[in-house]
Amino acid sequence: MRLCFEGAAGEVTGSRSIIEYRIGQKDRRFAVDWGMFQGGRDAHQKNFEPSSEHADTLECVILTHAHIDHSGLLPRLCAQGFHGPIYCTLATLDLLKVLLADSAHIQAFERERAERRQAKNQWRGDLPQPLYSLDDVTQCLAQCRPIAYHQRTPILEGVSLEFVDAGHILGSATAVIDVVHDGRSAHQPTKRIVFSGDLGTRNRPLMNDPDRVHQADVLVLESTYGNRLHRSLQSTEDELVEIVSRTLKQGGNVIMPAFAVGRTQEIIAILLNLVRQKRLPFLSIFVDSPMATAASEVTDRHLSLLDAQTQALAAWAKAHPQAARVHFTKDVNESKALNQIKGGAIILSASGMCEAGRILHHLFWNCPREQSAIVITGFQAAGTRGRLLVDGAKTLRLLGAEVTVKASVHTLGGLSAHADQADLLWWCQGFAEPPEKVFITHGEDTASENLSSVLVSELGWARPIRPKRGESFPC
Ligand SMILES: [Zn+2]
Repeated sequence: MRLCFEGAAGEVTGSRSIIEYRIGQKDRRFAVDWGMFQGGRDAHQKNFEPSSEHADTLECVILTHAHIDHSGLLPRLCAQGFHGPIYCTLATLDLLKVLLADSAHIQAFERERAERRQAKNQWRGDLPQPLYSLDDVTQCLAQCRPIAYHQRTPILEGVSLEFVDAGHILGSATAVIDVVHDGRSAHQPTKRIVFSGDLGTRNRPLMNDPDRVHQADVLVLESTYGNRLHRSLQSTEDELVEIVSRTLKQGGNVIMPAFAVGRTQEIIAILLNLVRQKRLPFLSIFVDSPMATAASEVTDRHLSLLDAQTQALAAWAKAHPQAARVHFTKDVNESKALNQIKGGAIILSASGMCEAGRILHHLFWNCPREQSAIVITGFQAAGTRGRLLVDGAKTLRLLGAEVTVKASVHTLGGLSAHADQADLLWWCQGFAEPPEKVFITHGEDTASENLSSVLVSELGWARPIRPKRGESFPC
């Protein structure tokens, strides 16, 4: 058996691995994740690399979760001739419908915008080429085969798969794959390969703690925050209580740019819980992002996958409608009406880095008001408006105008969908014996190197391998 790393090796995007094995004399291949590369200079080029060879030879794909850096090139693979099944959880499939369609829309929009500019002689060079169309997304979704957690399922001759909860986002899974030893028949003993997928944090709202796995021959482990420790949820809550109370008292609005999938639902849960604990008064929360609304609907449909506290909170909120109002704006007119609200509103909107979408309008109206507060809730990449706000910009370019920033700006540091070093170690301690081979992926060099060292020093594991893109290893 060989394990090939095609992405998320030495970086955090483009998750893609291929497993090759042999039944009798026949070589077989399947993949785990087929993600898009995002950010970085050569991401575009990597996304466009031909994958027709893979489309012809892969027999199935296992998808750990819906995030685009794990799923985003699947429609392209299908368009190039891959007809096999894509195994994922049902909640992942429901989120894929939202995320992949959005990805296709953005690509079509960028192409149309470039064509309009070209017509006015304002575009130089080649026009952006969409990676895939909405039709390709529809085809890809039709190839998805949902599997429930904790249900071992034969997926290929000599290969079976079980998903366990990775606690990262709704539907996210760790893939526990049993593969027959090379050259044997399908009923002979197997090797167990475990792909952690992205692992969540413990003791956080919404998601369950990640399930630990007790045995693996080969482990492929993510390392996004392998060199960091997160702040506690308690301090994040304290900070939020302080900001919201003060802003409401002085008659302003709280504007929260938030990622539509996961972060928005997490913040709603935190705010409702603070109301329930009587640490915050009645709240009027507006969710103003079509994608966040769609993702919240998917979350509601899969309430049973959330942790017990969040399920209890949802029941409490239903029984106490007077305690807080969560309103999802239905159209552009409702969104625009929010611009007239001078105080008392908490507005959650996308995009999370303030680069596009309805958040721009809310920043436009609230940045110049010293009574209002802007609360940044996630990572802000260099060069984005969100980063400028975090760095203390005094003015911001919004909707074609230079807007003064008089509102207070706060950064909530404690929210993360990724396990930190302590949680990664806790998860690895679930193995009764150290896995024979450990590969560390999905992390920048410093993060993967640091995690690798602590696995050796704290758990006594043999030094893990940190594969580079394109490398493959016998297993
Ligand atoms: Zn993820």
